[in-house]
Amino acid sequence: MFVSEIFHSIQGEGGLAGTPSVFVRTSGCNLRCWFCDTPYTSWNPEGWHEEWQSVLDKALSFECEHVVVTGGEPLLQPDVVPLTKALSEAGRHITIETAGTVDRDVAADLMSISPKLENSNPHRDRPVEQDAKLRRRWSDRHDRIRNRPDVITRFISDYGYQLKFVVDQPTDLDDVEHWLTQHPSAKREHVYLMPQARSEDELADRSDWLIEAAAVRGYQFSPRLHVEWWGNVRGR
Ligand code: SF4
Repeated sequence: MFVSEIFHSIQGEGGLAGTPSVFVRTSGCNLRCWFCDTPYTSWNPEGWHEEWQSVLDKALSFECEHVVVTGGEPLLQPDVVPLTKALSEAGRHITIETAGTVDRDVAADLMSISPKLENSNPHRDRPVEQDAKLRRRWSDRHDRIRNRPDVITRFISDYGYQLKFVVDQPTDLDDVEHWLTQHPSAKREHVYLMPQARSEDELADRSDWLIEAAAVRGYQFSPRLHVEWWGNVRGR
């Protein structure tokens, strides 16, 4: 497996926010969102190669019930299948954090899906750190593969799930509604609106109106506790 980091912290997002968890973060992603908060797993993938059995030993060395397999895009890696099955046999609660573009028969108690909307496209006139040529190169590919209704349909049908949408502007809310028309079986109580925020300032700018918008539309608001507490540093 291509691994970026393994650490113990507290889940900062979604329905399990506040839950102590071990994070196994793989490196590598098939998308390039302009707002990616882990560019060291996407734009500039860093990490090391390690046998899944060794990753399992490290995850189990923490006395912690919850294990979050995240990325990058963890489902790009075939070894996530035996890893999650072994974690499940060891009695761990497993969350998979995915954009929902790759299907693998993993073991998971919670499929935490963050579908990527048009607002994630890297070719945007926005203050991003990545090279403009690189962003233009990724733009078409990103749009081509960011929406896989077949994968999402299976995940919603076969796993406990939540849908976490990254919202940057109020106009993004119409895209959320439109995306959900593809999946009429998705329950609103499983839908989380999460502010696009890689810093405390961005979080403060977007949280108030997004809390209100989520309440009006019958969705959940997802905090980003790790940004609030630690400012999105690595390993926390
Ligand atoms: S899908 Fe996730 S990891 Fe990949 S580029 Fe987008 S935000 Fe980053």
